[in-house]
Amino acid sequence: MAGVQLTQLSKLFGDVKAVDRIDLEIPDREMVVLVGPSGCGKTTTLRMIAGLEEASSGEIKIGDRVVNRVKPKDRNIAMVFQSYALYPHMNVYGNMAFGLKMSRTPKAEIERRVSEASNTLGLGDLLKRKPAELSGGQQQRVALGRAIVRDPAVFLFDEPLSNLDAKLRVKMRSELVKLHRRLEATMIYVTHDQVEAMMMGDRIVVMNEGRIQQVGTPAEVYQHPANRFVAEFIGAPPMNLFAGSFSKSNLSSDALVIKTQLGEWELPGAQIGTADDMEGREVLLGLRPEDIRVSDAPACGFDAEVLVSQSLGAEVHAEFSCGGVEFTVRLNDNEPPSVGDVVRLSVARERIHLFDSASELRL
Ligand code: ATP
Repeated sequence: MAGVQLTQLSKLFGDVKAVDRIDLEIPDREMVVLVGPSGCGKTTTLRMIAGLEEASSGEIKIGDRVVNRVKPKDRNIAMVFQSYALYPHMNVYGNMAFGLKMSRTPKAEIERRVSEASNTLGLGDLLKRKPAELSGGQQQRVALGRAIVRDPAVFLFDEPLSNLDAKLRVKMRSELVKLHRRLEATMIYVTHDQVEAMMMGDRIVVMNEGRIQQVGTPAEVYQHPANRFVAEFIGAPPMNLFAGSFSKSNLSSDALVIKTQLGEWELPGAQIGTADDMEGREVLLGLRPEDIRVSDAPACGFDAEVLVSQSLGAEVHAEFSCGGVEFTVRLNDNEPPSVGDVVRLSVARERIHLFDSASELRL
């Protein structure tokens, strides 16, 4: 096993900066998920690590070795793609053994590795079946098995579960997490699905427009998004944002008042900055849908009208309107509020996110 280190790594396709000077250190045995919208550069990053794409500049290290000039087959990595690309005329055993046969691994060793991997993946009874006789999930497991038997230093996954139906995808996600624990392997996983990233990553790397926006554990990224992009990308339904500005408080010299369409709220200045620095500053106030509560608590409260109210069984998603802005609220209540009602809502101060309007960075 080995860690992976990317230093100032870039890839240009003509004028397009697909990957723009990224720095990332992935320790040995970590499961890291690269996540971001379509075109953000995550696949290109993975393909450069695999050696399928040449870096325009920067350095890629696997373990202690700089691999920029090392051929893909000599990088000691295994890659699993969205399409399983199994050989249709070979059975499961043949598909899993193929790479090892090509590298002239002794027959007994091939048998040992295929048997071990197929037991790990629950494929033991299917070794004689052809791919056409397998379900999508089983085919994906064979593709995984083909990677496992090579015992690589690093596993690379490029949206490997996208072709599976929603239920199977959820099952395979947790199987992959368990597999990661069992193999104690370094894994780099690419997805555009932020839920998948949150569920699978020891750490997640949020990318946009070729650049890393934030690296952290799922909890860090969710609770302390580094900027507006991360705040809106991670979390479903997404964080609500309200334009606002700061002014000094008449009541206390340590406090600041933030004014948005939701009203004027007093906030302790200590967490944000001094009143003199912050006065007049344009900001975005961020509230996660689950942090807005039906409550008549006096601090950070406001009245809002229910526009839409949908019960999902365990929770209710409601659209509200206040001061001309619309926003989403997630309620645990089984009782959906009625459309047209005006409801008193409030937010705990410590749940408020603030971003600078101009730089969009977290305050
Ligand atoms: P997706 O989730 O849609 O696969 P991605 O985040 O993986 O997106 P990349 O495939 O890495 O994104 O693409 C990053 C950017 O580089 C995009 O603007 C894409 O159009 C461009 N790009 C990727 N490959 C090539 C190529 N071979 N030639 C030209 N441009 C490319």
